[in-house]
Amino acid sequence: MDKTEINALLNELGLEAENSGAFDGTWLDTQGEWLESTNPTTGEVIAKVRQATAEDYEKVAAQSVEAFRAWREWPAPKRGEIVRQIGDALREYKDPLGQLVTLEMGKIYSEGLGEVQEMIDMADLAVGMSRQLFGKTMHSERFQHRMYEQWHPLGPVGIITAFNFPVAVWAWNACVAAVCGDSMIWKPSEVTPLTAIATTKIAQAVLEENDAPPIFGLAIGGRDIGEVMTADSRLPLISATGSVRMGRAVGQVVAGRMARSLLELGGNNGLIVMDDADLDLAFGGILFGSVGTAGQRCTTTRRLFLHKDIAAGVIERLVKSYPTIRIGDPMDDNTLMGPVIHEKAIEDMMAAIETAKEQGGEVLVGGNRIDRPGYFVEPTIVKVPGQIPITCDETFAPILYVMEFEDLDEVIELHNAVPQGLSSSIFTNSMRTAERFLSHAGSDCGIANVNIGTSGAEIGGAFGGEKETGGGREAGSDSWKAYMRRQTNTLNWSTELPLAQGVEFDL
Ligand code: NAD
Repeated sequence: MDKTEINALLNELGLEAENSGAFDGTWLDTQGEWLESTNPTTGEVIAKVRQATAEDYEKVAAQSVEAFRAWREWPAPKRGEIVRQIGDALREYKDPLGQLVTLEMGKIYSEGLGEVQEMIDMADLAVGMSRQLFGKTMHSERFQHRMYEQWHPLGPVGIITAFNFPVAVWAWNACVAAVCGDSMIWKPSEVTPLTAIATTKIAQAVLEENDAPPIFGLAIGGRDIGEVMTADSRLPLISATGSVRMGRAVGQVVAGRMARSLLELGGNNGLIVMDDADLDLAFGGILFGSVGTAGQRCTTTRRLFLHKDIAAGVIERLVKSYPTIRIGDPMDDNTLMGPVIHEKAIEDMMAAIETAKEQGGEVLVGGNRIDRPGYFVEPTIVKVPGQIPITCDETFAPILYVMEFEDLDEVIELHNAVPQGLSSSIFTNSMRTAERFLSHAGSDCGIANVNIGTSGAEIGGAFGGEKETGGGREAGSDSWKAYMRRQTNTLNWSTELPLAQGVEFDL
């Protein structure tokens, strides 16, 4: 995109060359330091954002408490109707917002559109949820008593998001939190502030049309604002997406003030190919999983386990295919892989490749930075002698570590022997092998797939992972329960006061 096209896009989304990064129902005249949003495809600045200061955060938080008090009075299906309209507004802006995701984050345009589609899907799902925030009724052990549980709005929710899904993760949280009756404060990644401002404007316009309270607060900044928010005792829930390092810090602070955290952290996802697998199917799964989004999905395939009888053929096919992957401008329809997010991501990738070599790894293909403006790298395959220390870490770049195995027990053991537990997959045509992988004695991850890669989850299920991935679950199924508080009610309509467990207490 040239400068004129970029300016037209910013204009269409209500963005300017200089923007406020704090919103409490009005855009605050913040005096925080300037943040430059950079296009990873060119390394050029797209626009500037003034970060929220701690004082700005205070205004946003105070307003969020007010908005919560008003919003929780709205019946849930009416809240759902607002989210339905937000879904419609996102449909209207799908194209420009998808372009902005691509411009600011660097994922290919088809994935930029896919990300906005995920927001729309979340809105649709949440509208349905708004009439299904069910509580159970129980039979009381006491005569003429009724016992049941209800789910109430929780409060203002803090949402911290990562750069790689700059708007979808907000929608996973925001659409559900909104129907649950919560207000929220969003602290997006400091690397992708423009998509956050554009999204907030789209959602706020819907609230204004409906005279709804300003439930979508925004405080843009780095770790410092995240830390202020995490420590804020007005927020009963902090939903944080990002690295394990960040989650460990956030989780401890939130636990220290006895509030809830919902952590969606790093993955180190393994894909197993058995000797009976459909290898064409497996090849497609490996390729999208390892190269898609330039290796910058939490569900990216990072470890490939190949049965020794098919390993040579699969490796040969991958090594031939990797150099043919069309790398370039993510706005170009032909491109399959765009840039990584910034210079530091390239440094981290190169350091990981060096470490892998020191630990016995052999680079089979790729391994270099591409000499052009912006932050482009070659997708890389490293053959490793087994699980070495570097394969137990998540490097957020397109590096695929390949190792061989002999039998299912061995590979399940290897697969699970990392600290993270997000997504996993196996390619096999054996029903027994598939079921074993999905069983309690199989994958230890939050997501386990058969004949599908590790990447690209649907929103209908609960998304998240175990171990250092943080244990949080978002999006579909009963994930909404994290955004509400449960209350158990017992109502006595008799004329006696019997105590539970038959306890007698008479004067
Ligand atoms: P990051 O951890 O650097 O930053 C994520 C967010 O946390 C940012 O908004 C950042 O400002 C904030 N932050 C950092 N330190 C903080 C602190 N101490 N207190 C409060 N906030 C803090 O991650 P990133 O580089 O933006 O994203 C990549 C990471 O996110 C990868 O590890 C990836 O696997 C993970 N991720 C996980 C999921 C999931 O659902 N499990 C989804 C997307 C990304």
